[in-house]
Amino acid sequence: MPSATPRAPFEWTDAAARGRAAAGLVRTLRPRTAEPDLLDLASNDYLGLTRRPEITGAAAAAARRWGAGATGSRLVTGSTVLHAELERELAEFCGFEAALVFSSGYAANIAALTALTDRGSLIVSDADNHASIVDGCRLSRAQTAVVPHADPEAVDKALDAHDGRALAVTDSVFSVDGDAAPLTELAAVCRRYGAALVVDDAHGLGVLGDGGRGALRAAGLAGDGDVVATVTLSKSLGSQGGAVLGPARVIDHLVNTARTFIFDTGLAPASVGAALASLRLLRSDPQLADRVRTVARTLHGRLTAAGLSAVQPQAAVVSVLAPSPDQALRWAADCRDAGLVVGCFRPPSVPDGISRLRLTARADLTERQIEAAVGTILRTAPTGR
Ligand code: PMP
Repeated sequence: MPSATPRAPFEWTDAAARGRAAAGLVRTLRPRTAEPDLLDLASNDYLGLTRRPEITGAAAAAARRWGAGATGSRLVTGSTVLHAELERELAEFCGFEAALVFSSGYAANIAALTALTDRGSLIVSDADNHASIVDGCRLSRAQTAVVPHADPEAVDKALDAHDGRALAVTDSVFSVDGDAAPLTELAAVCRRYGAALVVDDAHGLGVLGDGGRGALRAAGLAGDGDVVATVTLSKSLGSQGGAVLGPARVIDHLVNTARTFIFDTGLAPASVGAALASLRLLRSDPQLADRVRTVARTLHGRLTAAGLSAVQPQAAVVSVLAPSPDQALRWAADCRDAGLVVGCFRPPSVPDGISRLRLTARADLTERQIEAAVGTILRTAPTGR
């Protein structure tokens, strides 16, 4: 029997909001204006391409030619010649046999993990992997073993304990700390057990490897028959979307079985055009990848020389440790007040409980901007650190 006065269905969200407020974990949207008025060390536009006229021009041209939307799922009307061109060039650039473009990197990770496993499979996943990998593991219904961060021995043990199809999955460069996965060791362990290796190279494409060809290329693993990479087109390529790269048989399997491919509208032509233009620009200017890594090392060097603790950057992400969650939050807010946007990570977003500022280097930062950013971070740093 329904009660006399039915409860409003979303009333409970007020209590959840109060809980977040009490824990200091309220998230707020800050719509930015079109003209940047703050120095940005928080975005993922690692190569500074998203607003380059060649890239926005390619996006506009693609929209005019192919339409504002893809018009349907990739298997119906949503695959254009432009999508096929991007897939061909992306695979070739990164050194893989084939590629498949998705509407996001998130969808690409879910596709790889769900389509390449079944209920009897084992996924061995690094404890610090990105949320889209965590969700891919959950949706796969495979057994998942979460192993300690960057620990090939733990991966070995997990694989040893399983009989049947298995894969290990890792970020190439971890989102929060910017440290790198031990790819060579992981590949060797996987090979001992006939397991596949899936690497999310979201932070490696455009930054690592020869001319920005990615972490797999840098490790000499690109194109191997037992290796699959996932990437996003939304970071160094300054666009939107994602892709899976791997052996042609794997890509064919994804076309036929990956639900985030089959039941999702294709990536918008403007995003495809922009990503393709960025890829071509990267090919013609291989120094871009070197430049962003140099900027990251410079930021790290100057901040640590001044006494801050920061993780040695392996790519574009520079993680600066903060003494406490509250101080991290205030530090980031003080930076913003001084005209600098930085990321701020606090528990529970950081599994080790250590709060940090997260800076992202960009290839187009000038020496003056780097100096200004370092000056602001040092001036606003909590005392007694
Ligand atoms: N993997 C990693 C490691 C990421 O950092 C991100 C983006 N935050 C994604 C996947 C998801 O990519 P996208 O934003 O294109 O969905």
